Amino acid sequence: KYHEQLVELKGNIRVLCRVKPVLKEDQHEEGQSVVVTTDPNNESSLNVLNKGKDRIFELDKVFHPQATQEEVFQEIEPLVTSCIDGYHVCIFAYGQTGSGKTYTMEGSVENPGINQRALKHLFSEIEERKDMWTYTVTVSSVEIYNEVLRDLLSKDGEKLDIKINPDGTGQLHVPGLRVIEVKSFQHIKKILAKARRNRITFGTQMNQHSSRSHALLCVTRVWKSGAEGERLKEAQNINRSLLSLGDVIQALRARQTHIPFRNSRLTYLLQDSLGKGSKTAMVVQVSALESNVGETLCSLKFAQRVC
Ligand code: ADP
Repeated sequence: KYHEQLVELKGNIRVLCRVKPVLKEDQHEEGQSVVVTTDPNNESSLNVLNKGKDRIFELDKVFHPQATQEEVFQEIEPLVTSCIDGYHVCIFAYGQTGSGKTYTMEGSVENPGINQRALKHLFSEIEERKDMWTYTVTVSSVEIYNEVLRDLLSKDGEKLDIKINPDGTGQLHVPGLRVIEVKSFQHIKKILAKARRNRITFGTQMNQHSSRSHALLCVTRVWKSGAEGERLKEAQNINRSLLSLGDVIQALRARQTHIPFRNSRLTYLLQDSLGKGSKTAMVVQVSALESNVGETLCSLKFAQRVC
């Protein structure tokens, strides 16, 4: 079953696009006409009307504005499963402020997003395999703002540093980072809520914070076979940042030998999740409104660059 799901995944990087619905609060803006349209007969194409001209973008999958959190997660679910099968998995949202990144990743209490659904799925898969394997799940969460790292699970958002190769193993190490072992899905919900509260608290202290910061939730599993008891090696730690991310993904997609992970904190931290033996899903968030068409084209060009 798992193998079939893996085979279905086309390549290691999937580029999805979600068009945000036009909400009541968006209505007062100028340039309200809808210029981004999806094609009911082709779920991988998106049309953007700009200055009287149509431009068509081809991606792996496009979600129309009415797509539910459930539908979005269905596309992501096989990746979460492959994560239990030993792949490093990276799932992230990209797009202008207000385009729905937080909604897609975190969601709301009534409509949870990818993070919560993925962890719920992870715990149910672990439960299913408990006769064969024992898993230990740990999480950590950091925010990168202006190339500075903060611990989202600490009380006061401690600043952290990344140490490169401190023990000669070539692995990443973030001294002082809180790594919490999670026992259940209920427990993880509390941790996610804490990270969210902390991010809001730090955000109010800085101008332009939310549009320039990246939040990372890192989930690590160590597993033990019931039969042999052999502990497998822990997969550890797995706006230059964004540009570098584009370069890294493009290089991976082109199967280049040199992947420029070292160009930013973000890509440096993500190198285990983006490199060999890994799978990535990038959700490009766009607004449908004319007033945002410049940003929308920018985001889609970035997406196409990695497609
Ligand atoms: P970002 O994180 O990209 O800045 P948000 O996720 O905060 O954007 O979205 C901006 C607003 O739009 C929020 O109020 C959010 O609840 C709402 N929103 C975004 N996407 C959707 C969606 N698919 N359905 C309903 N509301 C959405």
